[in-house]
Amino acid sequence: MASHRLVDSYGRVADDLRISVTDRCNFRCIYCMPAEGLKWLAREDILRYEEIVRLARIFVERYGVRTIRITGGEPLVRVKLEELIGMINAIDPTLDITMTTNGVLLRQKALALRDAGLKRINISLDTLHMDTFKDMARSDAFDRVMDGITAAREAGLWPIKLNMVVMKGHNDGEVVDFARLAHSEGYEVRFIEFMPLDGDNIWTNEQVVPSRRIQEQIEDQFPLEPVVDTRPGPATRYRFADGAVGGVGFISSVSQAFCTTCNRVRLTAEGGLRTCLFSLHETPLRDLMRSGVSDDHLGSVIEAAIWRKEEGHLINKPGFIKPAKSMSQIGG
Ligand code: SAM
Ligand code: SF4
Repeated sequence: MASHRLVDSYGRVADDLRISVTDRCNFRCIYCMPAEGLKWLAREDILRYEEIVRLARIFVERYGVRTIRITGGEPLVRVKLEELIGMINAIDPTLDITMTTNGVLLRQKALALRDAGLKRINISLDTLHMDTFKDMARSDAFDRVMDGITAAREAGLWPIKLNMVVMKGHNDGEVVDFARLAHSEGYEVRFIEFMPLDGDNIWTNEQVVPSRRIQEQIEDQFPLEPVVDTRPGPATRYRFADGAVGGVGFISSVSQAFCTTCNRVRLTAEGGLRTCLFSLHETPLRDLMRSGVSDDHLGSVIEAAIWRKEEGHLINKPGFIKPAKSMSQIGG
């Protein structure tokens, strides 16, 4: 039972923990990583599974965290990830353990992940065309990703959310096709605004397609009804008005920031606690853990870091500073 919640100085409660298990990736998405030159963390600098589980246990048992999302980099490039899922599941089998993946290794991994206790999955898919896939992911694994989505479904990892980062001039012509896919196949497609967290420093506001525009295009063909969530999340969610299974969601981090209700906290692969995607500083926990401190000590460091959580990000406002780390190094 949680002794208390992780509250920040603006009254928000952090109960959604995102754990990055690696900074490495087998893709080089243009909105996330540079084509080359990103230096990987050394193996010994990355948290071991036992260290991740120790922190997860503190978040769950002391602070009532109920949702743990595994991310990266590409989480499935980390060896035996299903073992980590099993270890986290053993803390409390009712935990909502989810993962965000590019899907390319799911044919090999989906069943083992489900058996280990993974409850839900988000798969990133930005396009339904091989050539656009090559342009955006800088990989030719389009067919494997599509097959990975099928494998996840066959394994019973359902419902599946598909994450699409919409970039003007790349894939913005496909948003209605994605809504059609959601409508016919029962997926929830989440349209994500391109955020200034790319490794190539190509972000400009002009490339962001505001969620409002996407929604208008979709509603011309597929009328939508809002979903009222009991727990506020980053996505504004809609179901299809005609009752079809599936739906769409919009993550409008740039055009309509959701900072006032943000309940997220992130752990980077090297054990840095980040209270915001756009934080300019992290609270390093790895060396503290390795120096032998108690859970009480770690807890007090975590509580103090959460208390200092930023009021919100400053994208599009004077004073915005892009974090030095790319999305793959933070954990999206
Ligand atoms: N490799 C996995 C994947 O791609 O799903 C997990 C890590 S990835 C960093 C997590 C999510 O962040 C993905 O859905 C990806 O599309 C999204 N993402 C990465 N860079 C982004 C950016 N600059 N703006 C918006 N979303 C981004
Ligand atoms: Fe890799 Fe995911 Fe970043 Fe694409 S978005 S480069 S798949 S970490």
